[in-house]
Amino acid sequence: AHLDRIAAVDGRIEAFLHTDPEGVLEQARAVDARRAAGEELGPLAGVPIAHKDVFTTRDMPTTAGSKILEGWRPPYDATVTARLRAAGLVILGKTNLDEFAMGSSTENSAYGPTRNPWDTSRIPGGSSGGSSAAVAAYEAPLATGTDTGGSIRQPASVTGIVGAKPTYGGSSRYGLIAFASSLDTPGPFARTVLDAALLHEAFSGHDPMDATSIDRPVPPVVEAARRAEIAGLRVGVVREFAGDGYQAGVTARFDEAVELLESLGAKVVEVSCPHFEYALPAYYLIAPSECSSNLARFDAMRYGLRIGDDGSRSAEEVMALTRAEGFGPEVKRRIMLGTYALSSGYYDAYYGKAQQVRTLITRDFEAAFEQVDVLVSPTTPTTAFPIGERADDPMAMYLADLCTIPSNLAGNAAISVPCGLADEDGLPVGLQIMAPPLADDRVYRVAAAVE
Ligand code: GLN
Repeated sequence: AHLDRIAAVDGRIEAFLHTDPEGVLEQARAVDARRAAGEELGPLAGVPIAHKDVFTTRDMPTTAGSKILEGWRPPYDATVTARLRAAGLVILGKTNLDEFAMGSSTENSAYGPTRNPWDTSRIPGGSSGGSSAAVAAYEAPLATGTDTGGSIRQPASVTGIVGAKPTYGGSSRYGLIAFASSLDTPGPFARTVLDAALLHEAFSGHDPMDATSIDRPVPPVVEAARRAEIAGLRVGVVREFAGDGYQAGVTARFDEAVELLESLGAKVVEVSCPHFEYALPAYYLIAPSECSSNLARFDAMRYGLRIGDDGSRSAEEVMALTRAEGFGPEVKRRIMLGTYALSSGYYDAYYGKAQQVRTLITRDFEAAFEQVDVLVSPTTPTTAFPIGERADDPMAMYLADLCTIPSNLAGNAAISVPCGLADEDGLPVGLQIMAPPLADDRVYRVAAAVE
């Protein structure tokens, strides 16, 4: 049914970069055979899934949305991919994304944009926009994404589905093509909170292959999503996430969601996080710095594209030609920003200062979580914007992640759950729920109560 749906609608949505219907049916038959042989498979066995094309897959291409990886077939599976295969999920294909997950609209993909199923002239969010669109368009019941600054929560919000950013270190980065290693977090997309929790549980947990993986039990997210009960819970509304720049319809649906939380027995208070206003500038120093270092590996020797290697040029010349041709404008912008911020003489003023701001933001969260159990805000200040509207204005694009970035800097658990449609455009609005690291179950509990 999902293959039929993809065949029927993906020409308009363009969520997938790679699908292989025969291979999908083969995987499904193999799961049947395992079940018939008496293997104990988990609750998601046989369920189809789409993977963001930034997780390596040993039997499919992996591009990270970049020309520089065109034609590359990884020799191994990411831990997320491997665990979901072991659990019996069937991979429908690989989904589109902003190149190397840098963006908020999927317009930065080297393979063209993905469209929002609610209105195909609009963006599906990003960078995991192929995954969000595939789930919202019923092409896939589940999908994976990665959230470095909001790339799961923001696309979930603007396509009207559920998307969670697990605690940093709660889901493995092994085999995830790196953007900013201290921020990158794999997480689930689904149409219900319980589905997202089941997927979260299926790929999470300690992985010795990832040095920053947390060696603790996975928080009981499925139980929390089933419980869906919040009487007595203390909820903080972040004062800084309101005002100018927030669309009226977003604010209206958010205010109603807060009233709903109160009517379900939560105690709602306003909370101030004074350093959050510096989160965006700190992120846009830290993330590009880490990216400039991570993307140094694309040297024309190791992977994919190689340009000008005709025997007349040095390795450095081939590398320069390949990187000039293989990387898109946003990736180049970030490599240059990051290289500058890390260079000697500027390091303390930019990168060092941004890391200090990161600590202040983490402390704001710690102080807030002494008063409340969860924090809430709109997931993103506006509904899905038209394709092209912010493409030439990086600053406007960066604002899409105003509310999501602080949780990446602090490593929190967070989720986006649909909370209605904006009056002015009829497009989905998301409620963001944030909890301290390793309290992932709390965000699922609240999300399930309001969904
Ligand atoms: N939009 C943000 C950026 O461009 C976040 C991306 C992400 O979470 N991968 O960096």
